[in-house]
Formats: sequence, structure tokens, C-alpha cells
Amino acid sequence: MSDLLEQLSARLGPKGFTTDPDQIAPHLTEWRGRYSGRTPCLVLPANTAEAADIVKLCAAAGASITPQGGNTGLVGGQIPDGEVLVSMKRMNAIRSIDAANDSLIAEAGVILSAVQQAARDSDRLFPLSLASEGSATIGGLISTNAGGVHVLRYGMMRELVLGVEAVLPDGSVFHGLKSLRKDNTGYDLKQLFIGAEGTLGLVTAASLKLFARPRAHQIALVGVDTPEHALLLLQHMKALTGAVAAFEIMNRLSVDLVIKNVPNRRDPMPGSPYLVLIEFEGMAEIALRETVIGALHRALETNEAQNVLLAENASQARDFWAIREDISAGHRPEGAQVNHDISVPVSQTPTFLARANAAMAEIYPGVRIVAFGHMGDGNFHYTLMQAEGDDPARFPGAALSERANTIAVELGGSISAEHGIGVARAGELPRFKDGQSLAMMRAVKRALDPNAVMNPRALIP
Ligand SMILES: Cc1cc2nc3c(=O)[nH]c(=O)nc-3n(C[C@H](O)[C@H](O)[C@H](O)COP(=O)(O)OP(=O)(O)OC[C@H]3O[C@@H](n4cnc5c(N)ncnc54)[C@H](O)[C@@H]3O)c2cc1C
Repeated sequence: MSDLLEQLSARLGPKGFTTDPDQIAPHLTEWRGRYSGRTPCLVLPANTAEAADIVKLCAAAGASITPQGGNTGLVGGQIPDGEVLVSMKRMNAIRSIDAANDSLIAEAGVILSAVQQAARDSDRLFPLSLASEGSATIGGLISTNAGGVHVLRYGMMRELVLGVEAVLPDGSVFHGLKSLRKDNTGYDLKQLFIGAEGTLGLVTAASLKLFARPRAHQIALVGVDTPEHALLLLQHMKALTGAVAAFEIMNRLSVDLVIKNVPNRRDPMPGSPYLVLIEFEGMAEIALRETVIGALHRALETNEAQNVLLAENASQARDFWAIREDISAGHRPEGAQVNHDISVPVSQTPTFLARANAAMAEIYPGVRIVAFGHMGDGNFHYTLMQAEGDDPARFPGAALSERANTIAVELGGSISAEHGIGVARAGELPRFKDGQSLAMMRAVKRALDPNAVMNPRALIP
């Protein structure tokens, strides 16, 4: 190992290599303190050639690598446990924008909000949007195939990537940085790196899809009685407006805990069993508002909606979004809990909630359930919490989790909709993913990375 450290230091210089514990420390824990790790060194390549040499040197020395972007991942895959830690933060250039092609090439370490801004500066939209957008990087977002609130309209990261440049586990470079909408020359190899969680290579740059920038936005908060009503509302809002960009559901407890635990938040619709936040976007403000008002009137008349608030201005729209964005902060102080990021076909969302809620209460009477998330994509962040006043040691998190995941999979769903597997769920994956798919994933991993150089503890250890 000491030879490797000398070689890395000589190749990268003081800006790209450190063993200083103070400099390394922030990279070894994540913001919630759930994962912490160790590493012999932190390396920060400034360009693709340096990144390739890092991987080559590590592979030759028999050392493994953990890639890290903004360290916002929620499943621990970015935290090393003895591997060389490669932070992509210095590769933070937007290499080019081709507005006429609606595309932009960004290096892996560019922060999402910087890509959004660069797109805006060219009068375009990069639609990926999530609460970590001020820190998450393009390399991390690609590697976790991030989703967020606009998947319903624009798709996940997988749909937003035109090309990828990546260093393979042997240190060679995959030059897949094309900006084409059509390319039928065989396997779509860039897809291998999207959602791979750093296990197949180090993403160094990507070509991203841009869109026409919407000129008009409307934000509505709708109170509904049941998830079935929410599902009908989703279908009708999509059909009647053609403008739904986000459709987020929040159950009553998720909102109550925001009001209880987050300062300066007010319940905009007390009493509604479920709140749905809908974002509409279009090109003409007045026309969009009229269309949305007409569709919401219909929802009230048919009793799909019990209550409707349409934001009057940008500040009210931000207040509506703030409730949704503070849900995690709202329930975090509430004692023992276990979180899920499940997805089911959108049509199965009410069935999932009905079956899972009943099963959870049967396993652990008094369980508190926070169900919220991207219902428009069939994706719930489903959190189960200890009964109020109960001893946290009595909380049967593992049993609840197993059952919730099983119900999702029985309905044709997935145990990880958008956060990935990382190290957190790697143990569960073989129980919930079919054997043939796992065998194919292992075959790809063996073919590209036979010596397990890249992120060996994540996804399929
Ligand atoms: C408050 C908050 C809200 C969030 N909301 C959402 C949401 O709505 N939807 C959603 O999908 N996700 C959400 N996330 C999680 C989201 O997955 C991450 O924010 C983001 O995708 C990871 O980017 P990062 O740069 O921080 O990567 P990191 O956390 O540093 O790394 C994530 C994974 O990618 C790998 N990796 C990182 N960079 C590279 C690279 N260049 N090459 C190869 N592998 C690499 C790492 O090894 C690790 O396995 C949220 C996170 C937070 C903190």
C-alpha cells in the first residue's frame, strides 16, 4: 500500500492527493451520520487522464476504489471502508453547451444546481430536481440513476443522459460522450454506468439532455380522502391539462410531524387525510392557470378532491413545497424508525398502501406510518416508526421492513425506486430480485471488473 500511496502522490501532487485526517474526515461520514468509514488516502483527479491513472495504479496494486461525488447518497455506497477514496469534486467544468442540439456536456463533479443554471443561461431546462441539488454531482446522480420530483414528465437520470465518458476498472477510458438522440449501433453501453453505483467504472463526464424552458408554473395543494381518490386525480389531471410535472402525496401524519418538529411551518389544509401537491408547467401563464382551474373544479365536483388551494404567487408556492421537502426533517426526531424507497406500478399504489398499512399494524400495533413521495411515479418513501411512548428497543424494524418490501415485490414493485442499493440494501437484494437478473448483473461485473477494483462492497458484493 505504501508504494501505491507514493505513486498516487507523485502523479497527482498536493492538490490531488492527501492522507491528512482533517481533510479526509468530512468524506468519511454522511450527513445523517448513518455510515462512517476509513481510507488510506483521498485522491481528487483534475481531469480524465488523472482519473484513468488513479484507476490503473490502484488496479496494478490490487487496491479497490470507492468513488464519491457530493456525498449525498442515502445508501452508503460513497463511504469507503479501507478502499482508496476518489472524490470527483475537482472535475467540475461544464465542457460545452450545444443549445441547438438541446445538450450540455458536464464533468462528473459538477453540482446539479450548476447544470440547472447553465441550462437556464442558455434559455433551456435541465429538469432533474431533488432536495440535494445544491450538493449532488452529475457523476453521483448518474451512478444512482437519481429520480426526484419531475420524473413523471421527464424521466429519471437514465432518460436524461445522451452519453457517458468513464474510466473502466482496468484504467482504460470508455469514450461514450456522444450527444445523439439516435444511435442504433449495438448495445447501449452508456447505460451500464447509469445506476451502477460506481461498480463498473468511474464516470468522468456526461452529455445531458436539455429541454425547452417552461414559462409558466402553477402549484396546487389538493386534499383527498383516500389514495384511490389520489390515483383518479392523477389520471384526470394528466389527461385534462397535459401539464403535470410533479405529483407528490403526503399522508396526514407526515404533515402533522412537519408542523410539530419543523419551526415556522403552518398546516395549509388541516384535517385532510392525504395532501397532494401538484406542479403544472406550460408556456403561457394565463392559459395554464385557466386550464388548471378548470381541471381542479372538475375534481371538486366529482368528489375526487375535497379541498383545493392554488398558489397565488411564488412565495405561496414555495410554502407548499416546503411542507413536502421538510417531511424527512419532521419525522427524524420521532424515535426508532425504518425507511423504505419502494415503487409499484402507479395503478397499484392504493393497493400497496392498504395492504402494507394493515400488515404493519398487525405486526406491531401502534406503528406510526409516514407515507409520502412521488405517487405519480408509483414511488413511496414509506417510513415506519415506533408507537408513541414505546421503548425503542421493542421496535421490530427488520420484521416490518421485510413485510413491506415483500408486499411491494408481490405487486410487481421494487425495494429501491430511486436511492439505489449501496451497502445499506446489498444484503436484501438477493431476497427481492430474481435470480436470473442477479446472475446477469454478476456476469457483467465479472466481465468488466474481474478483480473487484470498483466499489466492491456496493450493490452486488
Ligand atoms: C436531502 C436529500 C434528498 C434527496 N432526494 C432524492 C430524490 O428525490 N430522488 C433521488 O433519486 N435521490 C434523492 N437523494 C439521493 C440522491 O441519490 C443523491 O443525492 C445523488 O444522486 C447522489 O449524488 P452525489 O454526487 O452526492 O453522490 P455520492 O453520494 O457521492 O455517491 C453516490 C453513489 O454514486 C457513486 N459515485 C459517485 N460519483 C461517481 C462517479 N463519478 N463515478 C462512479 N460512481 C460514482 C458512489 O460511489 C456512490 O455509490 C436525496 C438525497 C438527499 C440528501
